[in-house]
Amino acid sequence: NASSLGFIGLGNMGGPMAMNLLNKAKGDLWVYDVNADSVDKAVKAGAKAASAPAEIAENCDRIVTMLPNSPHVMSTFGGEQGLLSTAKAGTLFLDCSTIDPAAAQTVAKMCLEKETVFMDAPVSGGVGAAAAGTLTFMVGGPAAEFEAGQSILQHMGAKIVACGDVGTGQAAKICNNMMLGISMVGVSETYNLGKRLGLDPKILASIVNAASGRCWASDTYNPVPGVIEGVPSSNGYAGGFGTTLMAKDLGLAQDAATNTQSPIPLGSLAHQIYRVMSSDPRFADKDFSSVYALLSEEKLL
Ligand code: NAD
Repeated sequence: NASSLGFIGLGNMGGPMAMNLLNKAKGDLWVYDVNADSVDKAVKAGAKAASAPAEIAENCDRIVTMLPNSPHVMSTFGGEQGLLSTAKAGTLFLDCSTIDPAAAQTVAKMCLEKETVFMDAPVSGGVGAAAAGTLTFMVGGPAAEFEAGQSILQHMGAKIVACGDVGTGQAAKICNNMMLGISMVGVSETYNLGKRLGLDPKILASIVNAASGRCWASDTYNPVPGVIEGVPSSNGYAGGFGTTLMAKDLGLAQDAATNTQSPIPLGSLAHQIYRVMSSDPRFADKDFSSVYALLSEEKLL
């Protein structure tokens, strides 16, 4: 069946994304994950299970991947039972994982050699947006293929932005997350200083959020418990975007900065702070805004 869709990587993000494809796109959805439980769940919802990426490419000509990092993407495409071992000419690959832009370019070249098309399409928006189908996709790849990619991504997202050549979707994602990591540390140390100077964090927030210090980490995702309801800081830093994922993305920014000889002093410092947190059992499975708890020595709830 040449018009089937494939999906590999049914994790926190990929699971709900695949459900949206299954419910909204026409035709069969073939799925694969190394975790059999995730596959069972998708099969119960109506998907078809494949035993390896090679079987996905045998049955599908439009394939989405949502994997943890560059090595997983490399082996899923290039491995012995990988997608490219069986892919038909003309197959379209959309990789939504957050990986190294240079790795995306390498995989794109491997795909081109098999007369297939690769686009990087990392996402912003967390598991809530994945479930609601309101993700933002940052797409890098041949302009002529953008519409074909968009016709699939629209089932999972609300905003789809063409960023340029292959790798530029990843570049946009990594730049955004580096700024987010830096600003979350900055906001956290600032509110801690304010508190120690005797300021009520809610009063400081009302000033900062209407002044030149305003940013998303302060006005939408404030790291101080009790300032904003419904965000991880007001729920013991549970859920949200983990310190480990932030450390991973800042590591990708660090690699990209090294490759391009770009100075990122604050990005590097934020990277090290999140590496310390992701190897500390108190913070390893907490939201990244818990850097406030680290700096303020406030108890984790
Ligand atoms: P996850 O760890 O929950 O899911 C990854 C899935 O891939 C798992 O089901 C795992 O079993 C599977 N997997 C791993 N190696 C595999 C392989 N070789 N073959 C097949 N399946 C394999 O991760 P996630 O939170 O879904 O994130 C996926 C990607 O999206 C990451 O790159 C992450 O940085 C990015 N992202 C995550 C969020 C978020 O809020 N969680 C937001 C934006 C982007």
